[in-house]
Amino acid sequence: MAGERRLRILHLYPELMNLYGDRGNVLALTARCRWHGLTPVVEQAGPGDAADFGNADIIVIGGGQDREQRLVCRELAGDRGKRLGEAVEDGVCVLAICGAYQLLGRHYVTAAGEVLPGAGILDLVTEAGPDRLVGHVAVEVDGHLLTGFENHAGRTTLGPGARPLGRVRWGFGNNGRDGTEGAVYRNVWGTYLHGPVLPANPWLTDRLLALALERRYGEAALERLDDRLEAAARRVALRESRRDAARRMASAWRGRKRWTA
Ligand code: GLN
Repeated sequence: MAGERRLRILHLYPELMNLYGDRGNVLALTARCRWHGLTPVVEQAGPGDAADFGNADIIVIGGGQDREQRLVCRELAGDRGKRLGEAVEDGVCVLAICGAYQLLGRHYVTAAGEVLPGAGILDLVTEAGPDRLVGHVAVEVDGHLLTGFENHAGRTTLGPGARPLGRVRWGFGNNGRDGTEGAVYRNVWGTYLHGPVLPANPWLTDRLLALALERRYGEAALERLDDRLEAAARRVALRESRRDAARRMASAWRGRKRWTA
């Protein structure tokens, strides 16, 4: 077809790194590609498979528990991670969720004290804390409110080479302390937001598509789509993140009263 514009989406570790339906991010990207009149081409690569990072437009990696992270970290810290890093420097778009976000950093220290090496693409380190940070979360990114769900033991600290994806409105984010969530470096977007994050946040999906289009075709105009369904889903998710925050506050208050009684 004349004028056909293709975008290659590479889904890395689709079986191992796929928590809370994170593969929905690939579904959202392919669906919105079609709705925008683009042709998505999806490829998958598991451990040991040939992965053509040089030809990819968007690389997606979902979250995983410590066990799965242990299985993929050596590859990411080795030759595969080096090639991924080269593609990143060349401007490829990457969306990395939770466990994958941690492994694009320098290392992740598990609750058992094991050091899992990372790809070192993002300037950040992660260490598991004594408890899990769980709940619905809302994050402000460039004037947009992203919604999602987080469940992680890891506390992530950014170095000067990475900037936060956004500021936490409700929830924990990178570490529950500094109000940051996720990290951005070049066209790499790392975040703790499951949900999956893209179906409920069409702004972010279109942002990734626009970056990929710009890089591949030098032109990134996208039509406005009818996102009423997504907006309704976002309203519910935002209400839940507000409720989770209120519940945490109430329970902290009860704990304090017990302490002082
Ligand atoms: N195992 C990691 C942690 O708990 C990542 C979990 C995840 O991807 N949800 O911090």
